[in-house]
Amino acid sequence: MQQRPKQIAVIGGGISGLSAAHHLQELDSHCRITLFEASDRIGGVIRSEQQADCLVDRGADMFTTRDPWALDLCQRIDFDQQLISTNAKQRRAFVVHRGKLCEVPPGFTLMSPSRIYPVLRTPLLSWKGKLRLAAELLVPRKKDQMDESLKAMATRRFGKEAYERLIQPLIGGIYTADPQKLSMAATMPQFAEMEREFGSLIRGVRKAARHNTSASGARYGMFVAPRGGMTDLVNAIAARLPANTIRRQQTISRVQRTATGWELHTSQPQQSQMFDGVIVAIPAFRAADLLADNHRELTTRLRSIPYASAVVAALVYRREQIKHALNGFGFVVPQCEGRKVLAASFSHVKFSGRAPQDLALIRVFLGGALQPQLLDLADHELEQIARAELNELIGAQGEPIASQSVRWRQAMPQYHVGHLELVDKIEQTVATLPGLELAGNAYRGVGIPFCIRSGEQAAERLLTYCNQAL
Ligand SMILES: Cc1cc2nc3c(=O)[nH]c(=O)nc-3n(C[C@H](O)[C@H](O)[C@H](O)COP(=O)(O)OP(=O)(O)OC[C@H]3O[C@@H](n4cnc5c(N)ncnc54)[C@H](O)[C@@H]3O)c2cc1C
Repeated sequence: MQQRPKQIAVIGGGISGLSAAHHLQELDSHCRITLFEASDRIGGVIRSEQQADCLVDRGADMFTTRDPWALDLCQRIDFDQQLISTNAKQRRAFVVHRGKLCEVPPGFTLMSPSRIYPVLRTPLLSWKGKLRLAAELLVPRKKDQMDESLKAMATRRFGKEAYERLIQPLIGGIYTADPQKLSMAATMPQFAEMEREFGSLIRGVRKAARHNTSASGARYGMFVAPRGGMTDLVNAIAARLPANTIRRQQTISRVQRTATGWELHTSQPQQSQMFDGVIVAIPAFRAADLLADNHRELTTRLRSIPYASAVVAALVYRREQIKHALNGFGFVVPQCEGRKVLAASFSHVKFSGRAPQDLALIRVFLGGALQPQLLDLADHELEQIARAELNELIGAQGEPIASQSVRWRQAMPQYHVGHLELVDKIEQTVATLPGLELAGNAYRGVGIPFCIRSGEQAAERLLTYCNQAL
């Protein structure tokens, strides 16, 4: 007997939802997929645009190949030829130190040095700070396996100075997070693992470097981006879906379990439609709103994942307007410097083809968990702040040729201490609701590879259920 095609809904047209829809299609070409996207464009926080002859990524601008799921998807959709690596000649980053840019010591990964000599030479730390950092080799292992915050772990192992001057800006910048709350277990489990295995992060990172593995953290060679900007990846995935799969400007307002499946309600136009299964790939607090009728505890837990907002201001200057050589990918700013800017990336240096030869494209990050009030400023005020900071830090003079700010409100889930236990509970509850799956950056990784994995795993679980039940 022939099975009827499964009707599956995916809610959310960001990278997580698109990856889920694509993988459903890959695994079962007969299933009928409908992807609902609230806005008029797909991609969510991935958005590439032209601005003054430059190619600007307003949100994510690259992804790592260290966590394999994004590259793997690119290979499956014949998109890997479109990927370019970061500029090999300028692979360095700066950290702001007393108002000046200082190079991050070569070999310093997110949390720990793999080479001691550059750390001894850096002006970023006092001799006392350097000795305390080196004494990490002698700090005893943590006795329990409880989760702890970035601040707690970094100060315990490396001391206050290395934490404040290097580790906080390098890691806090990625998550735009409050380092006193950021969970090590949820964001960088490899470091807790190293402590358990080697008794020292320095030993662990050096060993990883010797074996040329990447467990220790970011190495610029592992970052790639589509030649034409991140939106090209989104479009390439969408192009693999059957025509009419994606319904733009359709906001799902409610998802309700019925005796025969899942009923999805859209508000404009007011409609409902039945599906055998549904993957909800939107921010956790929005998923909570949709699922409120189904499970009160699930809704409460989803709402308890906090979010932060950020502004990305893209400024274009003529190269001669900037005094700094811009011989790196950008800078991060320690909280203790008391500045408004969190970080800036020199996009035209990072990837080729982002700006014409004579222009500099700089993306400035503002806001985050610790300065949410900046989101309420008007565009011209944000531009003024970005310009003033760039003037002081890299000597950017005069008016930029172009400038545009994008506010990403409630776009960055914050993995606080205890996040993994919370996600375990969320997943246990979802498992009691057959035919429902969650995907997205709220749960087990915010980076693009993790979002893709979450979408693909949701697709696999849902098809397993459908194949057994239908
Ligand atoms: C400024 C910024 C910079 C970043 N930089 C990087 C980077 O360089 N590298 C990296 O790996 N990661 C980066 N990230 C993280 C990464 O980009 C995100 O975690 C990821 O893109 C999130 O994808 P998503 O599909 O889970 O969610 P989203 O992109 O938020 O997509 C969710 C989609 O669901 C839609 N939606 C919401 N509610 C509904 C509804 N009720 N009905 C229908 N549709 C709905 C939304 O319109 C949206 O399109 C960055 C994030 C930000 C904000």
